Amino acid sequence: MTSDAERKMQFLFALRSKGVTDKRVLEAMEKIDRGPFVRGLFAERAYDDTPLPIACGQTISQPSIVGLMTQALDLHPRDKVLEIGTGSGYQAAVLSQLARRVYTVDRFRRLVQQAKAIFEELNLTNITAFTADGSRGFDEQAPFDRIIITAAAEDPPGPLLAQLKIGGIMVVPVGQSDAVQSLVKVTRTDTGFDYDELCPVRFVPLLEGLGQE
Ligand code: SAH
Repeated sequence: MTSDAERKMQFLFALRSKGVTDKRVLEAMEKIDRGPFVRGLFAERAYDDTPLPIACGQTISQPSIVGLMTQALDLHPRDKVLEIGTGSGYQAAVLSQLARRVYTVDRFRRLVQQAKAIFEELNLTNITAFTADGSRGFDEQAPFDRIIITAAAEDPPGPLLAQLKIGGIMVVPVGQSDAVQSLVKVTRTDTGFDYDELCPVRFVPLLEGLGQE
């Protein structure tokens, strides 16, 4: 049987071998235990580099993808970040180690409540989680230094692009929900937006309106 320490070493090794090389991102992912964010049947597999089912028919992302997305955001300690798609809360917890303030939104109230309880348990006080349709962004706190969308959109949503600071970065899976999507890094320049395709990914779709749970 593998010990916890061994499992964690394998976890970090898997991240590095899939291209997560930024030291600060690796440190943040070493610090934030994925265990509490995975419940029930799949808890045993919390340290596998694989997406897993969570409540409301959604998924917690694959750790190496969380790492690559976080790395692509190139976070600075003073950044204000918006995440669309709280899900389990794991990605937001990782972001909370590298940014000043994290706003995270999900269309399922139940997921937001569960994530909030974990943030409180772990004393992650710089995360604000709330229920809303995130495709419209969060006007009250805009503009953001960084925006991360953890659900697939057919195009980067216009209202979210508008809430990105000049010089800001957005990371978003782009493509049809039933196909392989591309992870895209969008950088806002003085005059427009630069687009950079990073790697193929597979995410649940970004949907409009609130969820039923
Ligand atoms: N970042 C999460 C995984 C996200 S799964 C984690 O670390 O666990 C994608 C999430 O996006 C789902 O929870 C889904 O409910 C949410 N979502 C989809 N469309 C949305 C929308 N328009 N606004 C807010 N959340 C949305």
